[in-house]
Amino acid sequence: MQNADHEKFMRRAIELSEQAGIKLKSGGVFGAVIVKDGKIIAEGYNRVMKDHDATCHAEIDAIRNAGKKLKNPLLEGCTLYTSAYCCPMCLCAAYWAHIEKIYYGARVEDSLKYGDFKDLGYYEEIRKETKDRKIKMVEFMREEAVEVWKRFSEMPDRPRY
Ligand SMILES: [Zn+2]
Repeated sequence: MQNADHEKFMRRAIELSEQAGIKLKSGGVFGAVIVKDGKIIAEGYNRVMKDHDATCHAEIDAIRNAGKKLKNPLLEGCTLYTSAYCCPMCLCAAYWAHIEKIYYGARVEDSLKYGDFKDLGYYEEIRKETKDRKIKMVEFMREEAVEVWKRFSEMPDRPRY
């Protein structure tokens, strides 16, 4: 792919970040596009405040839109262009969606310095042992929960991805 195309895609992601953070004030300065075969197939921007949804990050929005467009949750052969370095949630979403490559604009230091976004803290947090994390996680009613898993494992037509 030509460099001009890369620039065009990243420029669109940056434009969407401006739309989110400055024009619409729907959330932070974050925009993203997903590209397949040299074309933008989906776009997303941060709408955390507008939608009252802590998970509506630009990358998540774009991944959801791309899945709907392709009618497939697995975005094989797709590239994500995001105006800023992904948070752990969006990075994992990219893994779940089988995104091939990610281009990012601003660094986490930039979103921290200019927007007070604490992605670095979350990256540190998930590296910790479960018992040392701020959010306490308690194993509870495992046997009953696993009963459903057992039935699922025996289904020949179970959903696989
Ligand atoms: Zn994110």
